[in-house]
Amino acid sequence: MNDVTEGIVLSNMEYREKDALVSVLTKDFGRIAFVAKGVLSIQSKNAPGCTPYTTSEFSFDYKEGKTVFPLKTAKMNNSRRALREDLDLLSFAGLLCELSEKVSEQGIKEIELYEALDNALNFLKQDRYLSCCLFLAWLQRFVGVEPVVDQCVICGKTTVSSISIKEGGFVCSGCQHHAASKNCTLDDLIHFRVASKAGFEHFDILQKKYVFSFNDVRIMMDFLLHHTGMRLHSWTLIHSLMD
Ligand SMILES: [Zn+2]
Repeated sequence: MNDVTEGIVLSNMEYREKDALVSVLTKDFGRIAFVAKGVLSIQSKNAPGCTPYTTSEFSFDYKEGKTVFPLKTAKMNNSRRALREDLDLLSFAGLLCELSEKVSEQGIKEIELYEALDNALNFLKQDRYLSCCLFLAWLQRFVGVEPVVDQCVICGKTTVSSISIKEGGFVCSGCQHHAASKNCTLDDLIHFRVASKAGFEHFDILQKKYVFSFNDVRIMMDFLLHHTGMRLHSWTLIHSLMD
């Protein structure tokens, strides 16, 4: 009774008139959903705390085995307002949250996923491409589809020239032609490797040293989608914005 947890709002869907079903990745209970009564009306005190991509404190009555709960209160702790002032940033936040929704299991506590998403959302404003790449690399490790970035994934040679999404990592010039590889620049290879090796604790150093681009995000997304079979609405939206 009277349980309280911090959580990141992944999505917020109209449920009945003025009510919403709010999907939240919580610190203590994993991904759960709240039925938030009246939250779509302007006067609702809980509305700010149920806004997508914010971090809020939720109070409710937890029951073992359940994953949907009536919401008592939601108090916003981190509005991440900058995300809502820039359509590009907002769409990247949508991508990070949709990915988190897909890889998390309802009601299973995943504190590392929570921390990775929290970091990624907080760093988006500073460098959207670097933040996305670090999150995607973390996610590749989390779901067990880590790319090979220390040698050619086919023959083991340490001089590499390209990335093969299908084979699962770097390929050398000898293996490149039968590995359905992408045409890569040296920067593409460096960024792909650096993101795979680094974490959010290295963010500031990486930001000073490298200029990540949308192309880096695209390569990491192609890799993740190919090896997991996931389909994402937010990624389709980003494509239409960026092209
Ligand atoms: Zn090779």
